[in-house]
Order: sequence, then structure tokens, then C-alpha cells
Amino acid sequence: MKNKFEYTLIRSRRSTICVQIKPEGIVVRAPYLVTNAQIKAFLKEREAWIEKHLMKVREQQRKAEQAGILSEEDHKRLRSEALRVLPERVRYYAPLVGVDYGRISVRCQKTRWGSCTAQGNLNFNYLLMLAPPEVQDSVVVHELCHRLYMNHSADFYREVLRVFPDYRRCRQWLLRHEEILLRGQR
Ligand SMILES: [Zn+2]
Repeated sequence: MKNKFEYTLIRSRRSTICVQIKPEGIVVRAPYLVTNAQIKAFLKEREAWIEKHLMKVREQQRKAEQAGILSEEDHKRLRSEALRVLPERVRYYAPLVGVDYGRISVRCQKTRWGSCTAQGNLNFNYLLMLAPPEVQDSVVVHELCHRLYMNHSADFYREVLRVFPDYRRCRQWLLRHEEILLRGQR
């Protein structure tokens, strides 16, 4: 059986197969005991789903690349999207970090993705909405961890990675796309 998509297979001590779709390709995570044929069949069954998500992810990347030509409308849309999405993510992650927080605001900024004041007020760059959801989450977790450490010490990063193990990959994505994303700022 041949699959429609190329993918990278990572085997580990997990109990189920899962598929991650990223702009750079498809990653399949599978338990050691599952055969290649079973994995292929699993993917075959989900071909339509994978195709749909692959398109979505690529669309997101395209949006990011076009950030430099954001219209007034786009800014309004991104801002309201950020106000809807980010407080929700903060609400989800705050108990996992074990902290509280104050007000949440969103802005369009030239130099930063987020900030956290000593009072726990959080500010996010709404251009984050041009990035994939997990990248948005990595910024949310970063800022929430500043409720524990107002620095970027080893302790700070230990906490970030405890709550969000995929942090480094997301941070790298942000660094790589920063210039394109921030081109959208006014
Ligand atoms: Zn920081």
C-alpha cells in the first residue's frame, strides 16, 4: 500500500499512533510494536483529514509570508482574533504553571511577542495570530512563567519546558519567521 504523503516516522514508548502536520512536513509518532503496514493503513484511513490539515497549515504559512502587506481590515481581524484566542490560552495554561494573572491586552509591536508586568498584567503582540497555534501557546507559557521568575534564568526555562516540552521548536519557528511576521506592524 502506498501513502499519498511523505512522512517522518518517530517510534517511541507511546500507546497510540499520532500524526502531526507541520508546514515542513508530516510527522507520525507510533509505538514500537505497531508494524509499518499498520501505520500505512492508519494513514490511508485519514488521508482526507491529513490533506485538509496540510492545506490549513500551508495557508497559515502563506498568511505569515504575506504579513508585510496587512491591510487595516487585517489588523482589526487579527486584533479581535487575538482577544478571543489568547485569554483562553492563558486561562488554560495559568493553572498548569500554577500562577494567577491580571489584565490581558493585545497590541501590535515591533520588537516583542509578549510581556508580563510585576503585577501580572500580560500583553501580547496580536501578530502572533499569524503564527501556528502551538507557537502562540509557547509565548503564552513563556509570559506566564515570568510570574514565577522575572528573568530568563535556567530555572525559568526549566519551568517553561516542564509545562510546554515543545518550546524550543516553537521558539525556533518564531525566530525564523520573526522578520516576515513583524513586517506587518504599522
Ligand atoms: Zn521573557
